Amino acid sequence: MTRPVNPADPIQLADRVWWVGHYLDGDPFQCHVYLIENGDRSVLIDPGSPLTFPHTLKKIERIVPFAHIRTFICHHPDPDIVAALPAIDGMITRDDAVVVTHWRGEALMRHYGLERLRFWLIDAHDWHLDIGGRDLRFVFTPYAHFPGAFCTFDPTSGTLFSSDLFGGFTKSFSLFAKDESYFEDMRPFHEHYMPSRDILSNALLKMEQLPIERIAPQHGSVIEGPLVDFVIRKLQTLDCGLYLLARGNTDIQRLSLLNRVLHQITQTMVIYREFRDVATALASIARSLLPVEALEFHAVVGDKQVLYLAPENRYRGTLEEPTGRIAEVLGLDRLSWLEQRGAWFQRTTTLVTVEGKTTEWPALIIPLFSPDQGHVKAIAVLRLFETLPEDSVVDEIVDQICVPLQVAVERETILRSLDMERERFYERSVRDTLTGMYTRIYMQDTMQRLFGLQDRDGVAAVGVLMLDIDHFKSVNDTYGHNQGDIVLKTVAATVMKVVRDGDIPVRLGGEEFAVFTMGRTAEGISILAKRLGTAIRALTFEGPLSERRITVSGGIAVRHAGESLTDFLERADVALYAAKNDGRDRVHIAQE
Ligand code: GH3
Ligand code: MG
Ligand code: MG
Repeated sequence: MTRPVNPADPIQLADRVWWVGHYLDGDPFQCHVYLIENGDRSVLIDPGSPLTFPHTLKKIERIVPFAHIRTFICHHPDPDIVAALPAIDGMITRDDAVVVTHWRGEALMRHYGLERLRFWLIDAHDWHLDIGGRDLRFVFTPYAHFPGAFCTFDPTSGTLFSSDLFGGFTKSFSLFAKDESYFEDMRPFHEHYMPSRDILSNALLKMEQLPIERIAPQHGSVIEGPLVDFVIRKLQTLDCGLYLLARGNTDIQRLSLLNRVLHQITQTMVIYREFRDVATALASIARSLLPVEALEFHAVVGDKQVLYLAPENRYRGTLEEPTGRIAEVLGLDRLSWLEQRGAWFQRTTTLVTVEGKTTEWPALIIPLFSPDQGHVKAIAVLRLFETLPEDSVVDEIVDQICVPLQVAVERETILRSLDMERERFYERSVRDTLTGMYTRIYMQDTMQRLFGLQDRDGVAAVGVLMLDIDHFKSVNDTYGHNQGDIVLKTVAATVMKVVRDGDIPVRLGGEEFAVFTMGRTAEGISILAKRLGTAIRALTFEGPLSERRITVSGGIAVRHAGESLTDFLERADVALYAAKNDGRDRVHIAQE
């Protein structure tokens, strides 16, 4: 939609609607003035300042005599819009000329001490003005730049004179927006100047209800046709009030970029579950701000361990002893960190080992503080292609990205700690804490599966040797419970040593054990039982138990197809009972 325009001429936007602004060299704001030609009731919109008005006047005179202008609409009282009012006041020859504005605008503009021009308040006139066969409607957009800000809609031409809304920064004079790329000119303007999205949305809601064919803003470019809907929709999703992020010297473009980056980071964290995906995405986002080669993390997990997450271990993480700078920074409190940082600490180097080869990289260390204790709980290291200068830009970027980085790492360390806890918990449920043998819970689970295999595929039968320490109660009674525990541990250790890999030793409870075997016959199990009996009989103890010898009695059963665990163990138990009755220190084989 390019069209040749010469800013030296008035430019017609629609039937009897003209651009009569003045192009100021090197002014990215390019302030626009619009004229509605309507006989001796013509309208001038946002007249301008002494810098521009003489030029605007010449353009007006080429369309209508200046005396034909009756209405001067001032959308808000900024100098680029209203500073020409005193001059206009001096030129006016008619008594019915008015400045159209909101009462808040009048409260300020009256300080110009205008003599002929009167104020005509939109809020006192039901928000519209009849200019004779043409009705102008005023749209109140308070706080979009100014508490009394408004826009003007001209239904006759379908033009919305939008004041600062829909304005943009243009690199060179460009009266008409070419395509959707104009939104990028609007973006920083609105992100920065519009105080909040709520306020902007409120204004856009009103715009949406108007049959707009073109938008004529006071800055930027005129928006026409399908672009109108496009920019309204785009503005609805825009973040505003970015100046709140800025500190000191503000670079609007950079603030916008930072803001977008923060959005990408949030999105990344929502979308990805795997830390590797999160870290890879964060690294590429960081790359849009700084010369980042890679991103690595060192995070404290548990008591002393440090999880090292880096591309070299595909962010799976390895537990490491921290060294060098990393060790120095982890655990620092906020104050000590700030002192260190002054000493060229943040911009440093990191050692990277790839396939045994260690290289030194320039790096930026970002401490991630635990929110509760204010200590460095983790460190993000940005490996850089080049050393960064010490300036506030880098600090600002770091300030903005450290919170999301911290959240990412914290989430990961929490998940890892939970995993480790789960493993410990699982280990505890599988292994008896006193003897290290498998637990009953584990036995039940495993035997169900083994029995299923045996019954379905006819694989080798499962056998069991059930063992019970003889006269164990008297060990406790004579030497005390602690000595009893030592005997239990020693007997269990002997059982675990003598059985072969693949046998499953279980502590059934108290001083009763079972060894499950695969593919042994009753005779085969008897041989195992004998070896066990011999080994246990030969055990000697230190201290009070030095004179005591320990024996066990056993019962052997080989499972038949379809037999339940309870029945199977019951048969072994009956055999064991028989061995006890037979005098102990021996093994009986259960009946089929
Ligand atoms: P028998 O030869 O008939 O098996 O006699 P026993 O004394 O070994 O039999 P009993 O089942 O009456 O005694 C088992 C004892 O084992 C009773 C209980 O206090 C003790 N006991 C069970 N669990 C533990 C344990 O974890 N540590 C210790 N020290 N003693 C335990
Ligand atoms: Mg017992
Ligand atoms: Mg016993």
